[in-house]
Amino acid sequence: MTDKQTSDNKSFKSKKRYYRKHVDFFRLLNKIKLWPSRQGILHGIKTITVLGNTAEITTHCNETFVITNSKTSRAARWLRNKWFFSSCDNCRIPEWKLRKYSATYFAQHTGSDLSHAVKDDGT
Ligand SMILES: [Zn+2]
Repeated sequence: MTDKQTSDNKSFKSKKRYYRKHVDFFRLLNKIKLWPSRQGILHGIKTITVLGNTAEITTHCNETFVITNSKTSRAARWLRNKWFFSSCDNCRIPEWKLRKYSATYFAQHTGSDLSHAVKDDGT
């Protein structure tokens, strides 16, 4: 129904990214590589190891914890809504990564669900 042309993607310098709201949480984390802690601090993810429905995350400040794959979890919501107060000093998240993240949006009906490498116009 929307007649958005893909051509306008290229006209923007700071290009906006859209992901589906229902995007797989682990895929999203793997892509964004950022983790909002309960204290509202954004950490950089060094490694993420998916083990079925849980994943082990190690941040750049060397914290390791196990999370569950849930799109409705606190972290998933915080990540989508960009609820954080500051970024971790020890993780040293590069500026470009934060900029990229701030140009990332989550929408119900547009964007990638990261399940295909190529653009999917099927639905
Ligand atoms: Zn950190």
